[in-house]
Amino acid sequence: MSDRLVRKPDPRCPVRPGEPCLLCQPGATGPQDCGLVYLVMSDPELREAVRAAGARR
Ligand code: SF4
Repeated sequence: MSDRLVRKPDPRCPVRPGEPCLLCQPGATGPQDCGLVYLVMSDPELREAVRAAGARR
């Protein structure tokens, strides 16, 4: 048996570029089922704004 620590993946918040997912949305277990991520990424203008914000970081 390995004595190395096993780290869980550190999911990033797609709508807050560079920040980790803090499970701030009720019912979300990560970005994969976050309602806010779904709404933002479904809107072309908002998606582009998030992409541009990430590029500025
Ligand atoms: S729950 Fe959604 S909005 Fe909140 S940090 Fe995680 S991915 Fe981002």
